[in-house]
Amino acid sequence: MKDYTATIGLEIHAELKTSSKMFCSCKNDPDEEKPNKNVCPVCMGHPGTLPVLNKEAIKHVLKIGYAIDGQIADFTEWDRKNYFYPDIPKGYQISQYKYPLISGGKLAGIELTRIHLEEDTAQSTHDIHEKSLVNFNRSSVPLMELVTEPVIHDAETAVRFAKELQLLLRYLNVGEANLEKGEMRVEANISVSKTKTFGTKTEVKNLNSFKAVEKAIAYEIERQIDVLESGEKVVQETRGWDDSTQST
Ligand code: ADP
Ligand code: MG
Ligand code: ZN
Repeated sequence: MKDYTATIGLEIHAELKTSSKMFCSCKNDPDEEKPNKNVCPVCMGHPGTLPVLNKEAIKHVLKIGYAIDGQIADFTEWDRKNYFYPDIPKGYQISQYKYPLISGGKLAGIELTRIHLEEDTAQSTHDIHEKSLVNFNRSSVPLMELVTEPVIHDAETAVRFAKELQLLLRYLNVGEANLEKGEMRVEANISVSKTKTFGTKTEVKNLNSFKAVEKAIAYEIERQIDVLESGEKVVQETRGWDDSTQST
C-alpha cells in the first residue's frame, strides 16, 4: 500500500423496532405494502401539530448505551436539522446534535463517539410514469445513529464492526437491522495518509450489504492512493457505491 495508512470512521443508522413511530401513534411497520397507510398530521409534518416522544424508542437507545458501556446522558435535547426535500415534510428532521443520549463506549474493540436518536425520512421512488412518488409510511420511524471514532484501518475491521452492531441490535431485540431492507444503513468516512496527520476524507453512501461495505472501502482506499500518487489532491465529498460498476 506504498506506506499509506487508511483511516475509517463509520456512521451507522438503524431503524428501531417499536410499536409506534417516534412522535405520533402511527404504526411503525416497515413491511406495510400499501403506501401512505400509516400516516397522520404529525408524521406528515402539518403545521400546528405536536410531536410526543416515544418512550420505547428512548429505552431502546439506553439499552444499547448500557450494552456498549457508553455514558448515559443526564440531560438530552432535540434539534432541528433543516433541509428541503420531498421526503422530509416539515422541512426539517428532528434529531440530536449537542446533547446525544449516549456518548463514548466501545463495541468490537472500536471506540464510539456517540449514539443519538432521530426520525427517519419518508421514501421517494423516482421515475414511475415520469413522476416521483413519496411514501410516508417510513416518515418519522425511530432511527438511531451511531458514530465511531476514526480508529478503523481496514475494510475487514469495518465490516466486522457493522456485523457486531447488527448482532447486538438483534440480541437486544431493538431492531432487525437488515442492510438489504434499509433497516441498517452504513456510511463510511475514509482517508489515507503517509503521516500522522489525517488525510482529507470522503464519505461513501449507498452501501446495501456487508459485501458492498467491504468492497467500497477497499476501492476508495485504492482510489485515494492513486489520486495522491498522481500528484493530485483528494476532494472532500460524498460518493455513492455503484454495484453495477463496482466503484464509488
Ligand atoms: P462531519 O462533520 O463531516 O460529519 P465528523 O467529524 O462528524 O465529520 O465525523 C464523521 C465521521 O467521520 C466519524 O465517524 C469520524 O470518525 C470520521 N472521520 C473524521 N475525520 C476522518 C478522517 N480524516 N478520515 C476518516 N474518517 C474520519
Ligand atoms: Mg457526517
Ligand atoms: Zn403519524
